Amino acid sequence: MHPQLTILLEMQDLRLQRAALTDEPGLDRLETDEFHVELRAALEALDEKIRELQEQLDAPIRARWERGLPHLRRMVVPVIGGVCYGCFMAIPTSRVESANETVQTCENCGRFIYVLP
Ligand SMILES: [Zn+2]
Repeated sequence: MHPQLTILLEMQDLRLQRAALTDEPGLDRLETDEFHVELRAALEALDEKIRELQEQLDAPIRARWERGLPHLRRMVVPVIGGVCYGCFMAIPTSRVESANETVQTCENCGRFIYVLP
């Protein structure tokens, strides 16, 4: 896998982890001050790590990532059986074949794609 794709996947994972920390049902039952301090610290640590990773991205990739973020929860999606799992449109075979060696995006939805065999 292309190193930039690996970074994108790590960033996405951290963002989803962040969302899970704030959205998870049941977490709001832990209404102690101590918990809120820990949660805030955890979110800050995640944000810091995401920023670090973001700085390692090439400028055009970073720009695309930032453009997609407000609307898309998942900016990096797998291609399985030649189909983008962001929008379920077929990806041309030639692009599927080179998807893991270069950083590619789906022409239809603009998400970054990686290929699962
Ligand atoms: Zn797509």
